[in-house]
Amino acid sequence: MQGKAVYLNGEYLPLSEAKVSVLDRGFLFGDGVYEVIPAYFGHLFCLEAHLQRLNNSLNGIRLTVSLDTQQWLDIIQPLLVEGEAQYIYLQITRGVADTRDHAFPQQSKPTIFAMCSAIAPFAREQGVKAITLDDMRWELCSIKATTLLANILLRQQAVDKSCAEAILIKDGFATEGAASNVFAVIEGVLVTPPNSNEILPGITRDVIIDLAKSNKMSLREEAIAEVDLRKASEIWLTSSTREILPVITLDNERVGDGQVGPVWEKMQQLFQQYKRAVS
Ligand code: PMP
Repeated sequence: MQGKAVYLNGEYLPLSEAKVSVLDRGFLFGDGVYEVIPAYFGHLFCLEAHLQRLNNSLNGIRLTVSLDTQQWLDIIQPLLVEGEAQYIYLQITRGVADTRDHAFPQQSKPTIFAMCSAIAPFAREQGVKAITLDDMRWELCSIKATTLLANILLRQQAVDKSCAEAILIKDGFATEGAASNVFAVIEGVLVTPPNSNEILPGITRDVIIDLAKSNKMSLREEAIAEVDLRKASEIWLTSSTREILPVITLDNERVGDGQVGPVWEKMQQLFQQYKRAVS
């Protein structure tokens, strides 16, 4: 097949030939959910956890797609290409309706789209800059919805200030990044906010929590007050495509001594070992 193959509603097509209707509710309303699943050396990373979250997201928007793990794998596997680090982007929308109406259509067939892309290398060892912004998103942040306008506007404000990410503050507490989860080292303890409707339950976050526990590092899943975030000796941002990013300045102030910290060095090593072990 000429060009890059993507999956759309049962077919593998060159990217340029994959088309959806303008009446697709994903296009009209952002009425859909998605997943981003990394693959290292051709092996999907934490596949079951990603599919479990996908099912939770589908349930969260009352969209029924009855595919089991093997059926999802049958869709995804042929898209994987050679290479050290790739990711599968998987999107499901409520499909095409006859007319534009907010309420669910009586009948519609979900649109299922998947593609594979390379994970761009990222110089995380140097650390990144971040800003804080007011978390003005909705109350269903645990759903991985394609409706990302709030997150986009927040991330762009960070980019406008030459920063990698915006850390969001709600009622005096850090929730997460615009497209990442947040960790902080506070008085020697690794802290991350507990899962709730205010954050996306990150798969990278879960891997880090498991690695910290199995390596006897002190960790707490606890709300992080903005004042404590500002005093933290380390701050990290985590996601499937960026892995674990150490933040060295927050709102132009140094985090700790303004260098990548020792707890990050340790977790980075554990995370890379874990990736290799499961690939
Ligand atoms: N929170 C938000 C808002 C995200 O968009 C993401 C993913 N980009 C994450 C957290 C991290 O989730 P994961 O580790 O599963 O990629």
